[in-house]
Amino acid sequence: MPIRKRIAGFDGRHSVIVVARVLGGLVLLGAYFLFARDDSRGQPLVAWAIGAWIAWTVVMLVLTLRSNPCPFHRVMTGTVILDSVVFAVLTLAFASQAHDPFYVWYLTEVVVVVLLIRTRWAWMLGWALGTSYVASRLATVGYESAMHNFVLVSNVAVFVIVARVVEAALSAEDNRTETLERQRAEALELNARLERSVDELRAVTEITELIHSTLDIDSVGPALLDILDRVVHVPIASLFVIDTTKQETVFTANRGLSGARRSDYSGLELVRAVPVDSGDNALSCVDLLEQKNHLVVLCAEQGVLEALTRDDRIVLQAVAAELIVAVENSRLYRLTTRLAVTDELTNLHNYRFLQQRLDDEIHRAGRYGKPLSFIMLDLDKFKTLNDTYGHLVGDSVLAEMGPVLKSVVREVDVVARYGGEEFSIILPETDASGAFIAAEKVREAISLHRFADAEGEPRIHITASIGLASYPVHARDKESLLRAADDALYRAKTTGRNRVRAPRLRLGHVPIDEASLKEVAE
Ligand code: GH3
Ligand code: MG
Ligand code: MG
Repeated sequence: MPIRKRIAGFDGRHSVIVVARVLGGLVLLGAYFLFARDDSRGQPLVAWAIGAWIAWTVVMLVLTLRSNPCPFHRVMTGTVILDSVVFAVLTLAFASQAHDPFYVWYLTEVVVVVLLIRTRWAWMLGWALGTSYVASRLATVGYESAMHNFVLVSNVAVFVIVARVVEAALSAEDNRTETLERQRAEALELNARLERSVDELRAVTEITELIHSTLDIDSVGPALLDILDRVVHVPIASLFVIDTTKQETVFTANRGLSGARRSDYSGLELVRAVPVDSGDNALSCVDLLEQKNHLVVLCAEQGVLEALTRDDRIVLQAVAAELIVAVENSRLYRLTTRLAVTDELTNLHNYRFLQQRLDDEIHRAGRYGKPLSFIMLDLDKFKTLNDTYGHLVGDSVLAEMGPVLKSVVREVDVVARYGGEEFSIILPETDASGAFIAAEKVREAISLHRFADAEGEPRIHITASIGLASYPVHARDKESLLRAADDALYRAKTTGRNRVRAPRLRLGHVPIDEASLKEVAE
């Protein structure tokens, strides 16, 4: 602990002075009984001085005990003034040319005053003690002797030098303390900033991990804002990513907003309206980052946005940059997965998806004991259509086939392009007779539809041959279901085209459905 604190800040400093004065009083009493009692020269004055010393000690004690806080400077001023008189009287009584026993007392008191008061006032009190000393010495030994004058001046000079040395030491200690305290404060601030930086880094890392851990980016929005709130205080907030080319919101996250208010902030127009007024709490929006045709916007309460520091903005921009990458990845993933199972020309499911879905549906049908039907469709004389109108028109007929097929089947039915000009439909929970009706509807829809020619005029007429098969009556697994439908299709072709056929027999060789009966009749 620095000297100044050890002394000036020490709680019991008054008590220390009081104890010193009590000891001093005892010494004075001893000296009085040993030397001054029989000395008629100064006896009454010395007794008075010692009495004053003791009385003031008692006053100090009382003041110290009763006043809180004790008026320390006033007590010290009183002490010095009184002691200047007491020391002068004692010097007059006990000192001689050769002996100057109270010089040490004067010196001690000067040092104590400088140590404990340490203001200009201390120097004033020091002067009072110095004057008392010089006056009492001059009164004792006179000023004729040059030698004694020199000793006197030297003694006073020692007062000044000792006081200056003590003060210089204390002030050096003060400077060091100040420097240390400043350095400590700087270290604490640096530490706090470092801790905050670590927190921010941790939050950005957590958010980065979170948003890259899933391709369903919308599901992580609330968790993202929760983490963000830990480092950038945004208790109520909406975060948007806007595709600036398409002018549409591609990511939305909300925190602290009620369901009703949430919808207020999810539209692009409202995000653009700055500030957004939602009634009780007005939210304002700021653009955080614009990059790769995406704009990230944060909406929060005006006060919160205004309180954002430079560091907060850096964190928000880092998160925004990661968000844009994640949103773009998610979009690409969705596009890739869609393309992987979609036929580019007809926009129907492709062969790969059909196979996968058929596996699943047969599995489900087996588990729940439900029927399942499969339709295979081949356009009639499509080669001739190509030859007549050209391949481009053939392509556009195939493309138009998608909506035609979808228009006549149920939502749950899976329409796919099997390949070339062949299409398939999975009909979950549909038995052979239901499938036959559906297939007839499809056949009829195709044959009634007029497809666009090269001029875009609906002039092309085309028909389709259809084969169907059902689980479990015609097949118990995917391969035999496909084979059964293909065989039926072949028979539809060979028996005149533009018709629907089903396998002739059920498993177990029992004749089955209308299709077979119809064929038998033909
Ligand atoms: P049918 O089925 O009635 O026996 O006669 P078809 O002329 O349709 O004969 P097939 O099914 O064997 O031939 C299919 C033709 O479809 C062959 C090919 O020129 C045409 N085709 C297959 N895929 C496409 C395609 O993606 N675009 C176009 N324009 N034509 C295709
Ligand atoms: Mg074909
Ligand atoms: Mg064909």
